[in-house]
Parts: sequence; C-alpha cells; structure tokens
Amino acid sequence: MMPAKNAYWIHDTVKDSNYLNGVKVLPRCKCSNCGYVSNYEKPVCPSCGAKIVGSKTAGETEDGE
Ligand SMILES: [Zn+2]
Repeated sequence: MMPAKNAYWIHDTVKDSNYLNGVKVLPRCKCSNCGYVSNYEKPVCPSCGAKIVGSKTAGETEDGE
C-alpha cells in the first residue's frame, strides 16, 4: 500500500467588503492533491486518502512545488 500523501484544503474566496481584507473565505474547499471538493474541512480527503495538514485560500500563492 502506498503511504498516504499530505495535502491541504484550498478554500474558495469571494470579495466581500464586510471583511477586513475584503475577502470572505468560504467553508467549501478543494483537495490540493486530487481536486476533490468538500463542503467543509475534513482530516483526510475522502477521495484520494491524503492526510490534510493545513488549508489555504485560493488567493494565496504557492511557493515552490
Ligand atoms: Zn484528495
């Protein structure tokens, strides 16, 4: 069996001036490993089995990888 990969949830964001940075982060998120979309953060991706080690917003830049 392959060891589970690590991944993170990528949250969708919408512009909302009510928020400090002008961006509202939605609970909906996408697995960085396989692209599975979940309605909320789960500890493990139910699609690819990746262990989720964190979360990002879609607006954040990925360094490297
Ligand atoms: Zn996944």
